[in-house]
Amino acid sequence: MCEECYSNKNRITPLLNPFVCLQKHTQYICGTCGRYICIEHDEKRGLQRWNFPFKSLEIAKLYLRTANYTMKKSCGIYEISSSKGRVFYKIFVCIEDLELFLRKNKNKICEKMAPVFIVEKYKEYPNTEVRKLTAKEIKKYMSERQGVICRVDY
Ligand SMILES: [Zn+2]
Ligand SMILES: [Zn+2]
Repeated sequence: MCEECYSNKNRITPLLNPFVCLQKHTQYICGTCGRYICIEHDEKRGLQRWNFPFKSLEIAKLYLRTANYTMKKSCGIYEISSSKGRVFYKIFVCIEDLELFLRKNKNKICEKMAPVFIVEKYKEYPNTEVRKLTAKEIKKYMSERQGVICRVDY
């Protein structure tokens, strides 16, 4: 597992519409393994990808680094279930944010009220970059994705 971005698949992201994401969105460039992680703020709501729910813990882990980096703090991934029994994962900076979310979403519960995944301590890395990519970088990254099994259950 990459110590900086918590994934062992260094070309797995973006999962959906990779070209659009790499071309249009600001990326967190992992200084350790070179993985690009979308860190773009959604224009309307000012939210980033990590603010949204994830279908699996594995996918949530792929975006956790952008949460930690943005908040300069070790955020937690929590398992949430809906009253219909649907399970999803969401990243929160602290337990208070989770509690606020649960108060606003009465049909959602978090059984454990503790993270299912969190890294010990927030750490900065010397080679991290956050910026838009060049056409050359996108081409190289996409070619490196070829042959890598980019399969995630989502
Ligand atoms: Zn994106
Ligand atoms: Zn990495």
